[in-house]
Amino acid sequence: MDHDVLIVGGGVVGLSTGLHVARRTDLDVAIVEKEHHLASHQSGRNSGVLHPGFNYEPGSLKAQFATEGTSRMKEYCHENGIPIEEFGVVVSALDTREETRLEELKEQADENGAEARIIDRKELTEREPNARGRSALYAPEAASVDSQQYVYQLARDAQAAGVALYLGTEVERITDRGSGYRLGTTHGPLDTRFLVNAAGLYADRLAQQVGVGEDYQIVPFRGEYYELVPDKRSLVNTMIYPTPDPELPFLGVHYTRRTDDKVIIGPNAVPAFGREAYDNTDFDLGDLGDTAQYEGVWKLLASPKMLQVAGSELHKSYRKDRFARAAKRLVPSVTADDLVKSFAGIRAQIVSNDGELVKDPLFVEEADAIHVLNAVSPGLTASLPFGDHLAERIESAY
Ligand SMILES: Cc1cc2nc3c(=O)[nH]c(=O)nc-3n(C[C@H](O)[C@H](O)[C@H](O)COP(=O)(O)OP(=O)(O)OC[C@H]3O[C@@H](n4cnc5c(N)ncnc54)[C@H](O)[C@@H]3O)c2cc1C
Repeated sequence: MDHDVLIVGGGVVGLSTGLHVARRTDLDVAIVEKEHHLASHQSGRNSGVLHPGFNYEPGSLKAQFATEGTSRMKEYCHENGIPIEEFGVVVSALDTREETRLEELKEQADENGAEARIIDRKELTEREPNARGRSALYAPEAASVDSQQYVYQLARDAQAAGVALYLGTEVERITDRGSGYRLGTTHGPLDTRFLVNAAGLYADRLAQQVGVGEDYQIVPFRGEYYELVPDKRSLVNTMIYPTPDPELPFLGVHYTRRTDDKVIIGPNAVPAFGREAYDNTDFDLGDLGDTAQYEGVWKLLASPKMLQVAGSELHKSYRKDRFARAAKRLVPSVTADDLVKSFAGIRAQIVSNDGELVKDPLFVEEADAIHVLNAVSPGLTASLPFGDHLAERIESAY
């Protein structure tokens, strides 16, 4: 046996799990990552916001991990010199319906142990003079972090704790050998007693090779960002969010002041024509065919609301004026000329065969494997408690 525990995927989920298994046990742990550089996918292509648990259903794993993850990650960033700005966020309500929704979010925050209060228009203007809104929810615990530096620090800590890291090594095939697994990689086979599949955008495909997760498929949703030109950055002091739609797993286009002082705007949520199609002209025929043939997608699009949302998000992707219109909803003085195209990330969003966009973290536990099928936002925020939780499950499985 090459390793006791082999983790596929060196994103925040795989790295945090590896680090925590190494800290909890004497097991021989390794992480296999297909890219030569870490943070190439979701973990390095996101808003970098620590989301305390005001937007998540009380009692859910997501709520628990978000609240705990925010405080653990702040401590981790401070201890390790990772850039972090504890700005807090304002979630702005533009009409009375949204104000009612903010009251619900405030109750959820209380139940989840996250700090939040409703602020009136006067206080919103003091905090964010250029933001629109009748009132807002102010969540002071939210913070902006450098997610790429965080990924690299996790990798350094995992290696210091004894975890082997194979970079530039893609897992092509997984075979269940009864007692453990053989992983066929681009650099030859690796055997392990326990398998953790944390392969992000490809986790469903690997899981399905060993008969797991057949009721689901990952549907890639690209999130594109613009950024404010340098002399307009002062329009936004901290982070401004729209009131989230409870039916959608995505937060809506928002403003984030990053630790490097750039102000990014986004992400939208566009159906992507490939799992790594970061540009809106990129496509992958195989991925596209997979999505187009998936019954879950057609059931999802059977909902008139989802169809309308998909259309509007596609428009925002191909037409800057439409993106600027979404940005203007929150900060009216922003114009299309103030925006320059920035980066994009792609969410590994699990959709069920019934057409449901799964909102909670989804992982399937077997006697000798864990498959992380849905590590959606706030997966960065949640990464320390989530990895610790998976490590605890692995420790007890041994
Ligand atoms: C646009 C966007 C904005 C977001 N904003 C936030 C935010 O503000 N706050 C927050 O908390 N969360 C946010 N998230 C969510 C967060 O980024 C993710 O939940 C988290 O990064 C998921 O981590 P991961 O390790 O599962 O995935 P990944 O980072 O994608 O890691 C998976 C890794 O597996 C590797 N891999 C895949 N297949 C193989 C294979 N066959 N062999 C070997 N390696 C393989 C990949 O190369 C990749 O490095 C955002 C996500 C996106 C996309």
